Amino acid sequence: MTAPGQMRTEYFPIPKIDENSALVRMAGSAICGTDKHMYSGQLNLGLPGAVVSFPVIPGHENLGIIEELGAKASEQMAAEGVPLQTGDRVVISADIVCGHCYYCRNIYGYPWCLNHRSYGDVITCKNPPHLFGGWAERMYILPGTFMFRVPEVLTDEEAVLTEQMAVAYGAFCRALQAPNMKEGYAPADSVVIQGAGPLGLCNAFLARMLGASKIIAIDKFEYRLKLARELCVDEIISLKDFQEPAQRMKRVVELTDDLGADLVVECTGAPNILSEGLDMLRLGGTYLIEGAFVEDAGTQVSVSRQIVAKNARIIGAAGMPFQAYSRVLKMMASFKDSIHFANAVTHRFGVDDAEQALQKSMAEDSMKVVITPKLGE
Ligand SMILES: [Zn+2]
Ligand SMILES: [Zn+2]
Repeated sequence: MTAPGQMRTEYFPIPKIDENSALVRMAGSAICGTDKHMYSGQLNLGLPGAVVSFPVIPGHENLGIIEELGAKASEQMAAEGVPLQTGDRVVISADIVCGHCYYCRNIYGYPWCLNHRSYGDVITCKNPPHLFGGWAERMYILPGTFMFRVPEVLTDEEAVLTEQMAVAYGAFCRALQAPNMKEGYAPADSVVIQGAGPLGLCNAFLARMLGASKIIAIDKFEYRLKLARELCVDEIISLKDFQEPAQRMKRVVELTDDLGADLVVECTGAPNILSEGLDMLRLGGTYLIEGAFVEDAGTQVSVSRQIVAKNARIIGAAGMPFQAYSRVLKMMASFKDSIHFANAVTHRFGVDDAEQALQKSMAEDSMKVVITPKLGE
């Protein structure tokens, strides 16, 4: 991607690695909401120093096979403490942290590092060794990157969801709050997912695995609601049937014992949805905001009525702690017989057709779209 809305296929030499780096042969790279926003020119990563540096090879939800691995990288890139080997099938963390800033020393996770870098958007492909994104045949793995071995039972199409599942995992961990089980998310809670796209669906998967008693998805696209219903959610609310926010709120209240939802998760990317989400919360409920990566165009909420009087807990969640990747892989491996994660991947395109793939990912009849490395077909 050379600029918003502009893409072309380009060839780079296969890089030489050193003892601290690695080379991965790609198996798949999923299209994320941030890729869509980057393509439309609206992406606001919001983190310190995190700006898109065109040209980039997009792709940060990456899965591949380690082809070459530096002697030191084998240990340094292994987040779980077991050294990596060539031939391992791995998920590559989207982000790299510095390890020495205030946040790395105090809250060790990707979203907080002051010197954070991420593949597929922040790291340009202008400079050698160029291959810093997953929509490619190979990816160069920089020193300091963590890679996570994929359990054998997971297929590529399950494993390629890991990054997005890790976002949901990180967010849910923030929402978990004991000792009072009615403050913050607890098993048996009701969960409303605003936006049944790929991020919404991954949050629904996570809610299901964490014991939610009722999951309600809201969207304007029938295709997505139907798939979400098949795969994991209990109730759907279509904007076609419930056109006004007040009607949707009433429906949520009806479905939650006249209380409102324990947890609402925003996955729409539209900040003007916040007021509606707050209205759907029960008193003392929790609101997780994950999708709003475009600049806010004047969101209106009633601070007194919707937040203070309600004792609402509001959590903004971007990125994830790096530990989330391996945990999500374990959870998906143990739930794979009851939740058909792979069916969330509805379309696949070769790298040459990346632009077409992006357009498909923005169409209403798609869920997760994955780019595979095959060329020239
Ligand atoms: Zn992503
Ligand atoms: Zn740092």
